[in-house]
Amino acid sequence: MSIVGPCCPGKPCAKKLLIDGQYIGIAGYDEIIAKAMERIDASDEEQRTVLLHELKMHNYVPESMERQYLGAVWEEFRKLRAQKKEQIEENYHGVPREEIQWFPRIDYERCNSCQKCVMFCKRGIFTFDETPKVTNPYRCVVSCTGCKSQCQEDAISFPSLVELRDMLKELRKKYPQVSR
Ligand code: SF4
Ligand code: SF4
Repeated sequence: MSIVGPCCPGKPCAKKLLIDGQYIGIAGYDEIIAKAMERIDASDEEQRTVLLHELKMHNYVPESMERQYLGAVWEEFRKLRAQKKEQIEENYHGVPREEIQWFPRIDYERCNSCQKCVMFCKRGIFTFDETPKVTNPYRCVVSCTGCKSQCQEDAISFPSLVELRDMLKELRKKYPQVSR
């Protein structure tokens, strides 16, 4: 299959993508992906807008082919974004996430099973079966306390920020590559 493309005459292309049946060289591929990755938690629509903008900054993209170009880059970006999100979840500045004891704890003496915490958290930390359960504790965002603020019964607690700081300080000794 022939390789064509609008990028870098006389230079090797950074990445060749299959677009409309042809492998097309994409200039500035790494920069394009990096720009969209800066907004890893933005909506798909926002990320697609960034990708198209960056794509056009680095390449000549015929107007009639915008959808195909964007589609090819978007598929690559989605795979890389999923990998990146997994890395973020597994690590917190180089510390394995499971080493960090930061997640909600529920006082069932206080909890009235209203489910506000369950509905509020979008990260799948909770499941609900008559009472809320913290079933995916290490997906909890370190230092987030969003669900606690939803709980009118004051049934959710976290370590204090001082305790978190001390915990991270100890872990930095164990994982010295951690940035401070
Ligand atoms: S918000 Fe509070 S009271 Fe409601 S289910 Fe969650 S922990 Fe229980
Ligand atoms: S602290 Fe934030 S991420 Fe963690 S369970 Fe509560 S709302 Fe979800």
